Amino acid sequence: KTFEELGVSEEIRRAIEELGFENPMPVQEEVIPYLLGNKNDVIALAQTGTGKTASYGIPVIQKTDASSKQTQAIILSPTRELCLQIADDLNSFAKYINGLHIVAVYGGTDIGSQIRTLKHGVQIIVATPGRLLDLINRGVAQLENVNNVVLDEADEMLNMGFSESINAIFENVPEDRNTLLFSATMSKDIEKIALNYLHDHKEIVV
Ligand code: AMP
Repeated sequence: KTFEELGVSEEIRRAIEELGFENPMPVQEEVIPYLLGNKNDVIALAQTGTGKTASYGIPVIQKTDASSKQTQAIILSPTRELCLQIADDLNSFAKYINGLHIVAVYGGTDIGSQIRTLKHGVQIIVATPGRLLDLINRGVAQLENVNNVVLDEADEMLNMGFSESINAIFENVPEDRNTLLFSATMSKDIEKIALNYLHDHKEIVV
């Protein structure tokens, strides 16, 4: 199948062609059309290198309204490096979409500049859980219009002790949203998150 057949928009196709993406990778072939449908939660067991970032990044970008300044998607990941990498990838997929702001926020660095950035209006926030919770508690990250929540490398986030922060973040997003969980491994704790926060989800193993 082609990205066009998966339902990927012309603007995004132009950007990913420039990146050298010719054909969808297997996880993309499964996840992209599924997420472009209406209400869809997913668990994908996928390692780094399988193309997982684009599998959720492309549909999340495509479903985001760039003409609204509201935050519409949050992507949680365990480390600063991964947040930066994800935001970088998503920004390159969104190259031809005007007005779409995708920003990485993470701990261990000055919060002041992150606060100023978020105040300008960021539709997609890529964050480590602790820092996002801090920004929520300061009233800077406003998540009442979020319709997609992605947990990337969920197993790593749990290993790093982020489960309390993740639970608290879920208290701040609408019930009526999609939740996408990506993990390299399955465990009891991941199953617990799935049970608490996903509804009628599809499970994909890459
Ligand atoms: P990831 O698993 O998201 O870390 O992606 C692994 C690498 O594959 C990244 O460097 C992507 O840019 C690249 N990639 C993702 N999707 C495709 C595709 N459809 N065709 C070629 N390269 C891709």
